[in-house]
Amino acid sequence: MPELNTPTAPEAATASLPRFDDFGLAPPILQALAEQGYQHPTPIQAQAIPVVLQGRDVMGAAQTGTGKTAGFSLPIIQQLLPHANTSASPARHPVRALILTPTRELADQVADNVKSYSRHTPLRSAVVFGGIDMAPQTAALRAGVEILIATPGRLLDHVQQKTLNLSQTEIFVMDEADRMLDMGFLPDLQRIINLLPKQRQNLMFSATFSPEIKKLASSFLKNPQLIEVARSNATAERVTQIIYKVEEEAKRDAVVHLLKQREIRQVIVFSNTKIGASRLARELERAGVKASAIHGDKTQAERMAALEAFKAGGIDVLVATDVAARGLDIAELPCVINYDLPYNAEDYVHRIGRTGRAGASGDALSLYCEKDARLLLDIEKLIKQKLTPVELEDFHPRSARGERAERSDRQGDRSNDRSERRTERAARSASAPMPRKEKVDPWFLKPYEPAAPSVPMEEKPVDPRNAKAAPKRAALLGGRSKT
Ligand code: AMP
Repeated sequence: MPELNTPTAPEAATASLPRFDDFGLAPPILQALAEQGYQHPTPIQAQAIPVVLQGRDVMGAAQTGTGKTAGFSLPIIQQLLPHANTSASPARHPVRALILTPTRELADQVADNVKSYSRHTPLRSAVVFGGIDMAPQTAALRAGVEILIATPGRLLDHVQQKTLNLSQTEIFVMDEADRMLDMGFLPDLQRIINLLPKQRQNLMFSATFSPEIKKLASSFLKNPQLIEVARSNATAERVTQIIYKVEEEAKRDAVVHLLKQREIRQVIVFSNTKIGASRLARELERAGVKASAIHGDKTQAERMAALEAFKAGGIDVLVATDVAARGLDIAELPCVINYDLPYNAEDYVHRIGRTGRAGASGDALSLYCEKDARLLLDIEKLIKQKLTPVELEDFHPRSARGERAERSDRQGDRSNDRSERRTERAARSASAPMPRKEKVDPWFLKPYEPAAPSVPMEEKPVDPRNAKAAPKRAALLGGRSKT
């Protein structure tokens, strides 16, 4: 199995790697890949591209970060090339490939990738997701697109408004299927599948394969080829994991201490709750750290702005909940911090997979309190590795937090409703894992979102003055710039 291509791979080692032109991809696609700076296919691409080109159904076991998007989009573009045309008539551009993703961020990223890979072909693509104005999406759909990337709720909105016809869909992709089920999208998925022609190619990707996922797969995949690139806990091997033993009330000080002590510049800090994420971001700001929270209570525009600012270097610390961070295409991250140990051991693997990507090494630092013993045990079982909590060096936490901070916290929380506070209190006092549903941001759980007009993403541009050059920055593996 070839290693994931990295710019640092020695020449001798890359000579034997497969190449994109081995797959018979058309010159406009190869040109786009060369411009992206991709030299060799990643393992999932090397396996998936030939199978998808044969028209077979695929069940792919791969996480975000493995290059799976190109693994399915490149052969889709290749297969649709015979239909590519420059006609102005919408009828000549029906939706032929539908790619469903669970989150808006992932939809946006997949759409960016598809756009770049197809930019030298006349094929059209568009993305539709909730939280932003429907009008520009409607205009794009009316003009006609061959490749549509969508989240389930907004897709159904467009179907209902009769701005979208899926009757000519030849290829259907379900990305991050496990997360779709976690988020309660099953009924929507079934409705969408019923709108597609019976005769079609199906590709399904999932990081985990629970019995529910297998059931879903067997309900709509026909004789699928199983493609697996790595076990879901493989990332742990490249990442240095340290578990720090701290008192619950000293956790915020511990984060500040770690940032200073280890001179950490760019880091995602994971919190189990939205309120916890917001509060920690505020505390860090007060301590002079450029931080922002990203979770389901933020508008789409705010989330995108925070993400862009983080990528550009305007923000050093992104405090995120699991679902909000899921699917974010942030690579080369030197470090992640688990402010809370996750309730699900699998989320630990997803979190630490944010660092140590593309063959690079990374640090995963976790804060651990006595009450987390059971969570740590679950993680150790999953990654088959013993993680012994250690003391945090030179750390002398204040015994109690200042009253001013408490008061201002309370003020900040006033805007959050009671049920959220209850969730957080429950989470803080939890000695055993909470059921998965409770930790997922409700914002993501709405299976069918009625279209509500809101601010377009462009309304909150990132101030370029905030961007600064830094030697090691998270970046899109495929490049920073958006086309
Ligand atoms: P994905 O898992 O599809 O989200 O991809 C993760 C990142 O890897 C994206 O930023 C891609 O642009 C990048 N990428 C995908 N394929 C390659 C490749 N063959 N060489 C280098 N980077 C790639």
